[in-house]
Amino acid sequence: MCTGSGGTGTGAQSGPPEIMKIFKETGALRQGHFVLTSGKHSAQYMQCAQVLQYPWLAAQLGQALARRFAGVEVEAVVGPALGGILVAHEVGRALGVRALFAERQEGEMTLRRGFALQPGEKVLVVEDVITTGGSVQEVLAMVKALGAEPVGVGVLVDRSGGRVDFGGLPLHSLLSMPIAAFPPEECPLCAQGLPWEKPGSRGKA
Ligand SMILES: [Zn+2]
Repeated sequence: MCTGSGGTGTGAQSGPPEIMKIFKETGALRQGHFVLTSGKHSAQYMQCAQVLQYPWLAAQLGQALARRFAGVEVEAVVGPALGGILVAHEVGRALGVRALFAERQEGEMTLRRGFALQPGEKVLVVEDVITTGGSVQEVLAMVKALGAEPVGVGVLVDRSGGRVDFGGLPLHSLLSMPIAAFPPEECPLCAQGLPWEKPGSRGKA
């Protein structure tokens, strides 16, 4: 089982084949030669919105992620906007509990729109992709500040390489796929002379 915390940091991918297949077939996970927004080069590109645009697949992923928390008592699911909204919705549906989202207001992660958590309410925090886990940390801090109790973190894709720690809370992911990115001058794909693509922008180099 992929737990998200067992990453080796070598760039190895792990996850159930059927989940990997969904990500590849929808174009959420692409192989090639990409220039990332950071300016670094990578052989992979991940865009979860590509898979979540199919509600029936989003539901399937939500069920799979919910199953990772079998035996854990969850009373509400919370995800950071925007990436965590649909994930929270589908995991909440699978667990039969409320799904809320947190959003930044003047830089601070907060519950708006009348959303509330009860003191002691057991909360599962979810997100589409984590790299440093920064947004998830902010949501966890918010949940605690509201007096509720975080019971775990669930993500579709863990790109952290096992480097994040959410205060000892159980972390489960559907796919564990550490980022293998290189400065352009060290890029093995550039060294092979392969043409690159900048996802989200038009045209190829
Ligand atoms: Zn390159």
